[in-house]
Amino acid sequence: MKFLIYNTLTRKKEELITVEPDKVKLYTCGPTVYNFAHIGNLRTYIFEDLLKKSLSYIGYEVKHVMNITDVGHLESDGDLGEDKMALGASREKKTVWEIARFYEEAFLKDCQLLNIEKPSVICRATEHIEDMIEFIKILEEKGFTYIANGNVYFSIDKYENYNKLANLSMEELQSGSRVDIDPYKKNPLDFVLWFTNSKFTNQIMQWQSPWGKGFPGWHIECSAMSIKYLGEQIDIHCGGVDHIPVHHSNEIAQSESALGHRWVNYWMHGEFLVLNKGKMSKSSGDFLTIDRLKEEGFSPLDYRYFCMQSRYRKQLVFSFESLKEAQNALSKLKNRIKIISKYIESDENIDANKTNQYKNKFIEQISSDLNLPNAFTVLTEVIKSELLNNAEKIYLIKDFDNIFSLNLVEEEQVDENIDIHWIEQLIEERNKARMQKDWAKADDIRKLLLSHSIELVDTKERTEWKYKK
Ligand code: AMP
Ligand code: ZN
Repeated sequence: MKFLIYNTLTRKKEELITVEPDKVKLYTCGPTVYNFAHIGNLRTYIFEDLLKKSLSYIGYEVKHVMNITDVGHLESDGDLGEDKMALGASREKKTVWEIARFYEEAFLKDCQLLNIEKPSVICRATEHIEDMIEFIKILEEKGFTYIANGNVYFSIDKYENYNKLANLSMEELQSGSRVDIDPYKKNPLDFVLWFTNSKFTNQIMQWQSPWGKGFPGWHIECSAMSIKYLGEQIDIHCGGVDHIPVHHSNEIAQSESALGHRWVNYWMHGEFLVLNKGKMSKSSGDFLTIDRLKEEGFSPLDYRYFCMQSRYRKQLVFSFESLKEAQNALSKLKNRIKIISKYIESDENIDANKTNQYKNKFIEQISSDLNLPNAFTVLTEVIKSELLNNAEKIYLIKDFDNIFSLNLVEEEQVDENIDIHWIEQLIEERNKARMQKDWAKADDIRKLLLSHSIELVDTKERTEWKYKK
């Protein structure tokens, strides 16, 4: 079956054809670590996780690389704004390095709570400065750069089709980009590759380079590190839609100029999570985090489920009311699944012919540009099916949950250390109590066993026990 994805570059749904058969080289832009990730950022990482797991599900071996932007002020492409890392450091009385590591760890913890799988490679910008310098040297040798006011710029006029990803005219691109009044730029859309002369003169994070002591521009890290770990041709590159006109357009310009050929085959972009009152912004400090959702009584997986109920290319409006609805729906779903697993009979077999029918339907949906809402419809069909037995249903639910990652089937808590002899003795004691009509004692024993997750089932002949699900 074809795996169809919407390619921002061509504005069409296209069949995925990978550079190497059965392998996908995936690069996703990672977080800027000067503050907690907000739930908007995390929506994008959930989308990327679903993409990666869908590709693995249908049999691709996925190599996934993600960067951590931990260099100074680099959340914009110019020499503007504030040094967010330094601001965070003085706010929290820490060094910029401590700030970067602290928020990186917080981000990875959020991902873990959301069941987002770790990338194969996580690379920090600060640990790849040499790679970036080598990359800039190549661009310089090939004539794509100029130096002005001590900084090395990329000249976008030297690269044909700068606007191919954003598909906007140069005028639109200029008016849409952050107002940058850098008088040293030849074209307002040029961007800095290496700063030696910045308004952030007292930057702590600085490195020696052929152009002088300084630090890299924002975009170069993704090109240098993705090519280092994935090679000269990448299958899929992802990020949020905000990255299309500047960050990703710049990444393409510098990478293809350095390589001399096409670099990324498919660009996929996740739409924004928005609040009723508008945008959520990390720099304004007014944003929602996973911790905040937890304080309001939601689990991270409630949020994951909420995100999966809409397509990744549609804006999603967040409200606590709609998150509550998602929480209720997920809880109902899990309860239905619990009942199904409780009633699996020991003689129920799994018929691959039957389960494959549903698997194929599921694959059809995930292969249709990640149609997760429809993939959930297939899950509902499985739950309601009169053709499938309970064992087959649980098999399929577990299988689909490789992508959903909602812990839909809670595993039995099997206590290896439990003493079976002790259980049997207590059952015998309880039976005696029942014969003597000592109901209180019998009930106490039942409760005692239950507190160890042992459930008693009284049949006509005898009392059986099982681990409580
Ligand atoms: P940042 O840490 O700001 O570099 O952003 C990390 C990722 O989150 C990037 O892929 C952004 O495009 C994405 N992003 C930023 N804001 C939002 C939002 N409100 N909704 C969805 N994704 C977002
Ligand atoms: Zn990037």
